[in-house]
Amino acid sequence: MMSDPLFYRLLLVGLVWLCLMLHVVWPYDRATAGPTTPRPAKAPPKRSSDLKPFPGLTRKPLCAACEQAHTHGPQPPGCPPPRIVPTRGRPRQVDTSFHFCPKATCDYGGWVGLGNIRANGHPNGGPWRQLHCTSCGGYFQETHGTPLHGKHVAPDLLVWAVGALAEGLGIRAVARVFEVDPNTVLSWLVEVADHAMAFSQYFLHNVRVTQVQLDELFALLSAVKAGEVSETEAIHRLSRSPHWVWAALDPVSKLLLTIDVGDRTLAMAQGVVHQVVQVLAPGCVPLFLTDGLKEYATALLTHFGYWVQPPRRQATGPAPKPRWMPVPQLLYAQVVKTVRRRRLVRVQHRVVFGTLEAIQQVLAACGWQINTAFMERVNLTIRQHVAAVGRRVTTLCKGEDGLRQQLALYHVYYNFCLPHAGLRVPLLQPLPTNGTGSVKTWRPRTPAMAAGLTDQVWTLREVLLFRVPPWPQPAGV
Ligand SMILES: [Zn+2]
Repeated sequence: MMSDPLFYRLLLVGLVWLCLMLHVVWPYDRATAGPTTPRPAKAPPKRSSDLKPFPGLTRKPLCAACEQAHTHGPQPPGCPPPRIVPTRGRPRQVDTSFHFCPKATCDYGGWVGLGNIRANGHPNGGPWRQLHCTSCGGYFQETHGTPLHGKHVAPDLLVWAVGALAEGLGIRAVARVFEVDPNTVLSWLVEVADHAMAFSQYFLHNVRVTQVQLDELFALLSAVKAGEVSETEAIHRLSRSPHWVWAALDPVSKLLLTIDVGDRTLAMAQGVVHQVVQVLAPGCVPLFLTDGLKEYATALLTHFGYWVQPPRRQATGPAPKPRWMPVPQLLYAQVVKTVRRRRLVRVQHRVVFGTLEAIQQVLAACGWQINTAFMERVNLTIRQHVAAVGRRVTTLCKGEDGLRQQLALYHVYYNFCLPHAGLRVPLLQPLPTNGTGSVKTWRPRTPAMAAGLTDQVWTLREVLLFRVPPWPQPAGV
């Protein structure tokens, strides 16, 4: 057993040590806490121009999608072969200028509008034309490479079923309406979604926009709708779940630049911004408006940044390290909404990159102020059109993939098939309609038409029958 004096001596040493440690730790703790504690007490700056400028990053943020794909989509293998001008026979009646030879070994394979394709009529009285490539002598169907190829089902039925899916009916509901097996509908959706993605990729590039609104909405809304949990709680609970729908929209043309599903993380934000950059024309740096998610700033910096060498402050010593800074054209503002008891109490604007004046100038061209209202309108439309996002539906595809496929279909349907009421243009000459209806005074326009990507309103049948060329075709074809 320990003797009493030794015990007290040890106790004294322990106390002295404790006092010393407290002395060391206490002021240090206060010193670090010092600058952070008064911060919430300070009123948040109303004008973000008061904020000090962004200091830059010492490292370039990495984007996984950029690392994976160095090329921007599929590239043509070289120059297109010369155009074939027919010299013999009667002029061709059927327009085959949108078709291409599917053979990889053919010189004309993959090239559109070079005069090598001839229509051959309907073999065995079938619904689809046979096409002939005069370069390689090959034959193929006009549905080659589309979801309608090789289907025994009536084409109308497939188109209608896909239309019902695009309009927001769940897979089981579509199966009931069209009296087919739910798994058949699911397999159609999977094929159509692949086609829709290729279709979007083919048409959506070199887009010039002045503004982009980014938003993410969570797919599982049922709990919030039922009032079981608060929205903040739901966001917290779902922030790691992969059921966030991310969308980027040009509020001027209403074009949906990209739509994707994933978790609410930096990697996903970077992926979405990466997809937006793929769609935009090279050198196009629009104004970005988002909600308060802080990952957007880094994601934008990843793709719209450059190295800056800061000037020396002192004459001696090492030169300051270069900083990764946003490109000077980049304008980015956040619209931060404070919701209390499901009521909007405050909307704050936070300029992150650029100046408030420059941002207001871009918006004033459209007579607008900072907001993300357009995006929220689109959110509502997405909820209405994508079964898994909007309602408590027992769709077959509960996973991320099923949602992604419905979104891919909706992406094309929204951009190319649905005329937007706000985009219609008045006709110079009113067109009389059949029967007793009033004259037609407006020309309907889709977002893709407003963005200059196409000059027609596509029907879903036309989309499904469009043979997507394997690479971008030269302009003027
Ligand atoms: Zn060929």
